[in-house]
Amino acid sequence: MCGIIGIIGKDQVADRLVDGLKRMEYRGYDSAGVCTVQDGQLIRRRAEGKLANLVRELAGNPAPGTVGIAHTRWATHGAPTTSNAHPHATGEVALVHNGIIENFKPLREALQARGRSFESETDTEVVAHLVSEQVEAGLSPQDAVMAVLPQLRGAFALAIAFRQHPDLLIGARLGSPLVVGYGEGETYLGSDALALAPLTQKIAYLDEGDWVVITRDGAQIYDSTNNLVTREITTSGVTAAAVEKGNYRHFMQKEIFEQPTVVAQTLSSYIRPLEQTVALPQMDFDLSAIDRITIVACGTSFYAGMVAKYWFETFARVPVDIDVASEFRYRDPVLQPGGLALFISQSGETADTLAALRHSKSALPRPRRSPVSSRCSPRSRRILRSKRASSAPTRSMRSSNI
Ligand code: GLU
Repeated sequence: MCGIIGIIGKDQVADRLVDGLKRMEYRGYDSAGVCTVQDGQLIRRRAEGKLANLVRELAGNPAPGTVGIAHTRWATHGAPTTSNAHPHATGEVALVHNGIIENFKPLREALQARGRSFESETDTEVVAHLVSEQVEAGLSPQDAVMAVLPQLRGAFALAIAFRQHPDLLIGARLGSPLVVGYGEGETYLGSDALALAPLTQKIAYLDEGDWVVITRDGAQIYDSTNNLVTREITTSGVTAAAVEKGNYRHFMQKEIFEQPTVVAQTLSSYIRPLEQTVALPQMDFDLSAIDRITIVACGTSFYAGMVAKYWFETFARVPVDIDVASEFRYRDPVLQPGGLALFISQSGETADTLAALRHSKSALPRPRRSPVSSRCSPRSRRILRSKRASSAPTRSMRSSNI
């Protein structure tokens, strides 16, 4: 997980881009970089290690311009070095990327065969070359992006700057999050609303497969079939304090000290102490009819899942399986109708957990090979019967989407 920010603004952007990166420190990073566009040049500054190194680099080598992109990297392909740090730039474009381009190898080989040479070990650099190639062939930035996106497999959030087009930035997302922020005569791209908190509260969340052209006047959003679409602009309630480290030494310390408040806030959303009742959110399935729970998560979320297993089994007497997300889809788990699958991710972006969720959604409608299990509740049997009668999604299938 890494952080992306892009600004097309009225004033200089480099300092504000770096401030945005600081607000995304909680996402982790091993290098950082900025690229601005000015006078037909892509002005790129990068540094490995802490953000302070990038700040030092910019102090000696400023990056002037009112349009730019920036990135904190969490390396997946290639060592955490300056040459692998984003933004990656070719002749015409610079871009930042959150995610993994799974088919980068064949794309890279094809680009090399066409005479293009690479300066990094990353999967990301192929996208810079592919877009640049189209722009060099005479396509507009929009047409170039439209030509390239269908070639990419994997997960990405991208922010792309164009050497000869200081009047726009293009963003795209599939599997990794990207938001558009609306300011006064300025428009922003960010990995999340938190990154843009001090710049604007007016946020549109891009849908899967969307791509967007931002200018100083606003944004044009297109869906995966290149139709112009409207995404709701919401007012984000996030404050900068929610993501800043404050006086804590590190984010883990902040999270430890925040635990009592977070637990109290969570409980108070559901518990009515005066009436001595618990008010759970409205669900479109019957919680009491669930006869098996599968929890899927990674890392700390996996440990949280183990606690949940203990509580579900002790108090609700419902059997719980718990799986590490990275193993889940490879062992082709048996997901029974009437069961509930829970996917836990602190960031909401854990690639393996999201892949496991997608796997479950696609696996559930499979025809059953055996008769209804004797363990199924009467409700589950009803679901199964209706499932045989229709291929429409059942409630139990939707319940996997939690
Ligand atoms: N896969 C890219 C890289 O290794 C992006 C990683 C990230 O999301 O920070 O550079």
